[in-house]
Amino acid sequence: MAKTYKADAAITGAGLAGIATAFELLERGKKILLIDKDKRERFGGLARESFGGVCFVGTPHQKRLGIKDSPELAYSDWQRFACFGDNDHWPRAWAKFYCENSLDYIFHFLRRKKIRFLPIVNWAERGLFQPGNSVPRWHIAWGTGVEIISRLIDALEEHPKRQNLELLFEHEVKGIETVGGRVTGVVGTDLASGTEFRVMAEVVIAPGGICGGDLSKVRANWCRQWPQPQILLNGAHRYGDGLLHDKVAALGGNLTHLDKQWHYAAGVHHPAGRKVLDGLSLVPPRSALWMNALGKRIGPLPLISYTDTRWLVESILRQPGGYSWQVLNWKIAVRELAVSGSDYMLAFTRKSKPLLLKHLLLGDNELVERLIEECREDFVAADSLPELVKKMNERSLYGLRVDLPTMERDIGEYDAMIDRGSAFFNDEQLRRIGSHRSYWGDRIRTCKFQKILDAGARPLIAIREFILSRKSLGGIQTDLKCRVVNKDGVPIDGLYAVGEAAGFGGGGIHGLRSLEGTFLGSCILTGRVAGNTIAGA
Ligand SMILES: Cc1cc2nc3c(=O)[nH]c(=O)nc-3n(C[C@H](O)[C@H](O)[C@H](O)COP(=O)(O)OP(=O)(O)OC[C@H]3O[C@@H](n4cnc5c(N)ncnc54)[C@H](O)[C@@H]3O)c2cc1C
Repeated sequence: MAKTYKADAAITGAGLAGIATAFELLERGKKILLIDKDKRERFGGLARESFGGVCFVGTPHQKRLGIKDSPELAYSDWQRFACFGDNDHWPRAWAKFYCENSLDYIFHFLRRKKIRFLPIVNWAERGLFQPGNSVPRWHIAWGTGVEIISRLIDALEEHPKRQNLELLFEHEVKGIETVGGRVTGVVGTDLASGTEFRVMAEVVIAPGGICGGDLSKVRANWCRQWPQPQILLNGAHRYGDGLLHDKVAALGGNLTHLDKQWHYAAGVHHPAGRKVLDGLSLVPPRSALWMNALGKRIGPLPLISYTDTRWLVESILRQPGGYSWQVLNWKIAVRELAVSGSDYMLAFTRKSKPLLLKHLLLGDNELVERLIEECREDFVAADSLPELVKKMNERSLYGLRVDLPTMERDIGEYDAMIDRGSAFFNDEQLRRIGSHRSYWGDRIRTCKFQKILDAGARPLIAIREFILSRKSLGGIQTDLKCRVVNKDGVPIDGLYAVGEAAGFGGGGIHGLRSLEGTFLGSCILTGRVAGNTIAGA
């Protein structure tokens, strides 16, 4: 006999979106079951691993830095970057809603939970062929995603109506039940005991995206215009297998934009190897030269980070072997290299101001040493270019070889241009570095036109980088109340979707591209809206 629970709402997934939904429902006195396949120690899903960068529009932080932002400007940037299609009514509506409400629904909500943001606002995704963020909007939570999740879990645990919340870990939801077209609950398995369970409640689908699991859904929904890489690293949730997406589709729910995925260009093998092809996403240094598997600088327009992530990924996929090398030196690495993940950004995660100051002034030597030591599969260091190329070739794949004379030529030309002086920069990367350095928030983390072969900046470093699968931009279509809709746009009674499962709202709030930091933000936004809808507020 299946164990049966009764509640007002069953939330299937205890990631950030599920937690935000639960909090909102608790506030309104509803009885909730928050169910997750994972273990209790991983409560919070991917957000716990995240850097904690959130996109806000019009914060006091921006104002203090003299940044003039507005919902209108943000929405115009968002639409340009997203390239929405004519039929993207709900994604557009959600994007507008985000830009207009990021302060009330997300920023102040997190501030009330005592989450603080660093005073420096970062400027991600500036755009390349079309402008992206017109102004800096990426606010880093002090304490990273770990802090966001811990504070929100505390808010649930300490809530005056805590008795209305039941948490079920190691419980996999496998099916959605209906009666006469109305969703009445879910069924699944208690993985610890092997027994079945049933929940009778309204259902919130919150299992994250489809970019994890065994990557088969990622490959099956790969963007048709792009070649598929032989090696694709997994930077998403190990349970992001799309099972509940399929169950929703079987009930008539509309799945949209699944071919729109947010991959990163600078993935390396995760030393912990927690899952097959586990990947770590580097924040690519701006002053490194991005070469292909043959050691040729990718061009004619060089690849430059902080511009357009989608374009970086597409450019690398079109190179021989579908992987790349970033070539840099120690001086660049300690100043510019970062990892998108709470485990590695220790000054941020530990909330250590002295350590952060040390890293900003002197560079993060510990991080670079750690990466070279732990990620030997993809990181090589050497005192000379021939030695570096020899080590790179020990890691070359598919019979492709890095060519030393080509590397010498391309690096030599770049370094020679730096020697000629900034008045004569005719290289887009150097021009962009100049532009990055003109914003204070970027200058502190960008070298001043650093030559690669500079004898005083060695050792040389080369990083073998793969495309890393991270986020699903598409998903279960919802209306602006988070109600799952069918192909005719009609809501399915009793069924809601939030977070990445809902394409972060409306089945594709980002269109083709994100302005960055919009993922965590829209998990909170959709979660809170779903909670309000179910509670009838
Ligand atoms: C390293 C890293 C860094 C990141 N940095 C940022 C950043 O700085 N800014 C930003 O905006 N975004 C960032 N992101 C993305 C962001 O963290 C995620 O997009 C977001 O947290 C997704 O939240 P979610 O609740 O929708 O899904 P998830 O976090 O994936 O949670 C889904 C939960 O559902 C559970 N589940 C799945 N299937 C089932 C099932 N059948 N039954 C029961 N439970 C199930 C899973 O175990 C999981 O706990 C980062 C992601 C990573 C991995």
